[in-house]
Amino acid sequence: MKRKLVFATNNAHKLEEVREVVGDNFEILSLNDISCHEDIDEPGETLQENALIKARYVKEKYGYDCFGDDTGLEVAALNGAPGVYSARYAGGDHDAKANMKKLLKELDGITDRKAQFRTVIALILNGEEHLFEGKIEGVIISEEKGDSGFGYDPVFQPDGYTQTFAQLGMDIKNDISHRALATKALCEFLKKK
Ligand code: IMP
Repeated sequence: MKRKLVFATNNAHKLEEVREVVGDNFEILSLNDISCHEDIDEPGETLQENALIKARYVKEKYGYDCFGDDTGLEVAALNGAPGVYSARYAGGDHDAKANMKKLLKELDGITDRKAQFRTVIALILNGEEHLFEGKIEGVIISEEKGDSGFGYDPVFQPDGYTQTFAQLGMDIKNDISHRALATKALCEFLKKK
């Protein structure tokens, strides 16, 4: 029988990506699948803390082995901002347009455009905590380009490419992205379990 493992998210895209890579060993459940309908707070000051908070919440309250993730865009010239605050950089929650506008304003006139996306996944399995990380380096361009993806995709151009994540499309992005790399590391670990 497949072992059940909760992914502390209801994001359909993230669930599909993980289910595809994990294969047959585990049945990946969403928060909806375990009737967890509350919003899990993300009060941590690091991606690692927030990922752990989500996994521990599910383990403690629902008893399932679980993993949670958190992602941030870290811009070198802004000392790593917006980082763990990426979703609410412009104040509102998940307002991607406002977040990008603020980012471009902060970087106005700055020539160092280096940035990276970083994802941390925290897994609780058999009473032990494990961390996995994925990151991709690139630059913040000076205007939005492209329509696909979400968040900061229209202004992030990965190194080695001449287009933004939003122009490259989901197939390429899902192959090289921070989240894909962290997910692959998690899945390699789970395959051996
Ligand atoms: P989350 O932890 O995956 O919810 O990501 C937090 C925030 O980081 C999101 O609200 C987005 O603003 C940003 N973000 C995360 N992943 C991506 C991505 O793949 N592309 C663009 N922005 C992202």
